[in-house]
Amino acid sequence: MSKYVDKVLADVKAKNPNEPEFIQAVDEVLTTLDPVLKANPQYEKNAILERMVEPERVVMFRVPWVDDKGVVRVNRGYRIQMNSAIGPYKGGLRFDPTVNLGVLKFLAFEQVFKNSLTTLPMGGGKGGSDFNPKVSPHTPGKRCSDAEVMRFCQSFMTELFRHIGPDTDVPAGDMNVGGREIGYLFGQYKRLANEWTGVLTGKGLSFGGSLIRPEATGYGDVYFAQNMLAMRGETFEGKKCVISGSGNVASFAAEKLMQLGAKVLTLSDRSGAILAPDGITTKMLKDIMYLKNVKRGELADFAKKTKAVKFFAGKNSWQLTDKIDAAFPCARQNELDGKDAAYLLKHGCKVVAEGANMPSTPDAIATFVKAKIMYSPGKASNAGGVATSGLEMSQNSERLSWTREEVDTKLKGIMKAIHDNAWEAAAKYGDKGNYVMGANIAGFVKVADAMVAQGVC
Ligand code: NAP
Repeated sequence: MSKYVDKVLADVKAKNPNEPEFIQAVDEVLTTLDPVLKANPQYEKNAILERMVEPERVVMFRVPWVDDKGVVRVNRGYRIQMNSAIGPYKGGLRFDPTVNLGVLKFLAFEQVFKNSLTTLPMGGGKGGSDFNPKVSPHTPGKRCSDAEVMRFCQSFMTELFRHIGPDTDVPAGDMNVGGREIGYLFGQYKRLANEWTGVLTGKGLSFGGSLIRPEATGYGDVYFAQNMLAMRGETFEGKKCVISGSGNVASFAAEKLMQLGAKVLTLSDRSGAILAPDGITTKMLKDIMYLKNVKRGELADFAKKTKAVKFFAGKNSWQLTDKIDAAFPCARQNELDGKDAAYLLKHGCKVVAEGANMPSTPDAIATFVKAKIMYSPGKASNAGGVATSGLEMSQNSERLSWTREEVDTKLKGIMKAIHDNAWEAAAKYGDKGNYVMGANIAGFVKVADAMVAQGVC
């Protein structure tokens, strides 16, 4: 590692000692940039790394709301505006009790490189709250009601609205922020700003949403993996796939894999993991999507009613079966560790395409890279969601709606471009096939060049 990277990393660790996820994300990117920093001394001269690891702005605010019993509750809200060198800040909102400043800074940092990779003009941001819509504050075993989620979203937007705008910062969904929450957030923004603009993406179709946006991250993840396989003349036909999660990204990754003839063996959630030895069927997946999105239930409930699946309480998807061709981590950060990686390799896994953000721990990443399997980091393979958000912004600006086929074709094209750019950057800087290095360098160069051109700001 160069002295320059060493110094910046040491500063990041010293300045952010309570933010392990942020330090992990910065470490993962910076330790792959030496070749491009050496070839371009202007980056060090302009303190590009020092500036990239410092958010342009962090907004933290109180979110007071009233629950169904009339009790006043208080959560903490955040928006991290990380980097706007190549476009307005763009990135999702996460509502989860694990949300804190360090987690959101890690996600915002990743988002800067991801958005750059999409080829679209979008800067990086991220936000959210420690609000937990999955646990009622007053009734054990229940979730927050729709009315409670609405009141929370309205209060959250009452502060956030003054920091965002269609040319400033355009949030979207993330964990626990789906169509319902985006609808409530958009309604409140419109009311406060007295204008109808494409200020949020992931909107409902009747008010400016884009076809394929809900599917885009999961589909895009699979398209990226398809491109990796195509480099070796292979397809997904008959491949045995394990997926973690059963939310937005996981369910649409499963749907696309099944359409391409792969066998999806596992899904998971907070209650545990299911294994379908003969493959999850289209009907099962439809039932799971209904359970998760409408009933807001758990896979444990699904397993009780479905004989064709086995349930593993509290487990993740990685070590449930002994023949695996491809793995898709689609739930959360650090959910696949070194032992899981070793297990996957031992049982035949040749493709790992991350749908979640930073799901593999550093030792898992090192294991995959060393084994030279087809391993893609989330910032490359899950960029389809934000890319389609970019397409939603374009449609809103033009006051047009593209067809499903048009959006899907553009998404496929973007995922191929991301794949090819990462592949070419890795080859150019001496480590052909290393998508971690390739994605980091390809994402970095565009933002770094824009920052150099814009002077010290
Ligand atoms: P989601 O719909 O809320 O689904 C998240 C899934 O992960 C759920 O199945 C959830 O289980 C599971 N999960 C969360 N925390 C867990 C824990 N501690 N233990 C076990 N399982 C857990 O969220 P999503 O939108 O699919 O996002 C998944 C990942 O993809 C995140 O890393 C997100 O940042 C990333 N991502 C999302 C998008 C997007 O467009 N949505 C785009 C790029 C990246 P429960 O259902 O039991 O909660």
